[in-house]
Amino acid sequence: MTSQTTPSDHDAAAVPAAPPRGASAWVEIDLGAIADNTRELCRRAGSAEVMAVVKADAYGHGLVPSAQAALRGGATWLGVAQLAEARHLRAAGVEARLLTWLYPPGADLAGALEDDIDLSVMAPWSLTEVVAAARATGRTARVHLKVDTGLGRGGALGAGWTELLPLAATAQAEGAIEVVGIWSHFAYADAPDHPTVRHQQEVFEAAIAEAQRHGIRPALRHLANSAATLTNPSAHYDLVRPGLAVYGLSPVPDLGSPTDFGLREAMRVVARLLAVKASPAGQGVSYAHAYTTTADTLLGLVPMGYADGVPRAAGGRAQVLAGERRLTIAGRVCMDQFVLDLGPDFTGAAGDEVVLLGRGSAGEPTAQDWAEAAGTINYEIVTRMGPRLPRVHIGH
Ligand SMILES: *Cc1c(COP(=O)(O)O)cnc(C)c1O
Repeated sequence: MTSQTTPSDHDAAAVPAAPPRGASAWVEIDLGAIADNTRELCRRAGSAEVMAVVKADAYGHGLVPSAQAALRGGATWLGVAQLAEARHLRAAGVEARLLTWLYPPGADLAGALEDDIDLSVMAPWSLTEVVAAARATGRTARVHLKVDTGLGRGGALGAGWTELLPLAATAQAEGAIEVVGIWSHFAYADAPDHPTVRHQQEVFEAAIAEAQRHGIRPALRHLANSAATLTNPSAHYDLVRPGLAVYGLSPVPDLGSPTDFGLREAMRVVARLLAVKASPAGQGVSYAHAYTTTADTLLGLVPMGYADGVPRAAGGRAQVLAGERRLTIAGRVCMDQFVLDLGPDFTGAAGDEVVLLGRGSAGEPTAQDWAEAAGTINYEIVTRMGPRLPRVHIGH
């Protein structure tokens, strides 16, 4: 069974055939892989619970179907950056515990509480707004206090944490909030031996002890992302928050491949050749003629470009699988298309599938290969696959 979704239409109930009729390119997502990866992460987490992080349309994999697959695999929590993502999950009928951590002043926190969404609090202003929402709705807000243990990004830092704690204790004593979690995030989880890792854990534990002196004793202490879940059991605490690994990618490619960690990539990106045409030697190809044919050849037009998430920096560097062969993109990546030099002996035709990335098992490049070609990380490759590419979900 397959279903197709786009980011604006995650929960389409229709069950059309895959790939969509007339689609020139699409993203295929193996939900069985997401469930199996989550199962492996649960096994590694031991007694800690698993929060599958599904922000940013589940790193490009489709929010609702990916969340449901992760829950099938044993995740008991879902994590998203933005409140709108959390509310979208609720509107789609997802009932699991759900944490959101990035909302601006003036956000609809009453709506969040009505939807049973846990809220991160990292500053007095957000605590004030959460308390107001609790009073307005008559609900107790479930709060995860965020401490900055050294990342230098979100979270209450140093004196800011000391300032936040008595305010949170008062709000809890009034029944407006229940502090269910204390949490933080690593700067160098992908370098497990980096001295900041141990140091952040010490700061984290001191911050929890300080909270306890205010009578704040949450059941859930959480710090680990994918890299720490896979490489640093001492950071598992009560709950882990893997994102990337849920989708089968390695957060530490220098330390191990997905297979090494018992994971498999869920995403495969496919396009159809729109044209195959004869070209003489010496033909400049695509904008600025950054590539020139060296012999009589066949050129193939691939209908994906940087609007679809193909990095422009990958022109002349990244490869795709066309037929049996890996070919490097010829010249510039444009907004909607790029060109391949298929060679004079290419036997395919317009309509043939070209695989941009996948698991590598059929000879296609992986997201990690693309990341290296484009000078970025695998996270960015999958997450930026564009909204106009239909998502085709298989492996329910
Ligand atoms: C994105 C994110 C995660 C997941 O990170 P991965 O490296 O993808 O596992 C965990 N926690 C927070 C706060 C995040 O922003």
